[in-house]
Amino acid sequence: MINRIDHIGIAVKSIDEMIDLYENTLGLKIKGSEVIEEQKVKTAFIPVGDSEIELLEATSPDSAIAKFIEKKGEGIQHIAVRVDDIEKILADLKVKGVRLIDEVPRYGAGGARIAFVHPKCTHGVLLELCQRD
Ligand code: ZN
Repeated sequence: MINRIDHIGIAVKSIDEMIDLYENTLGLKIKGSEVIEEQKVKTAFIPVGDSEIELLEATSPDSAIAKFIEKKGEGIQHIAVRVDDIEKILADLKVKGVRLIDEVPRYGAGGARIAFVHPKCTHGVLLELCQRD
């Protein structure tokens, strides 16, 4: 079951350069950042009520985030929904013919288990399924 929006992922050139906007201007607080080597990305989460904003910075020019920024500029890159049984939802989507980027969950920031649905199936939205236990 999909429960709610977990977070919105925003591709940025530099997380450090976002501190002034999110903390000083908007009054939010950036949680500690994490580098996820296999995805060549550095992430930082900003809690906003029950949801969060995830800032994503490329750690390598061949990172998906670097390519995204090159093509579209900085901005919203994905929307993540919180699910309670990611394996079950992935199996269900597969049966329904939904194209998946990840057929098995992978590691996500903060120890979440995540999987992406292909934007071709969601009319341009990169959708992340996210389970936090
Ligand atoms: Zn995410």
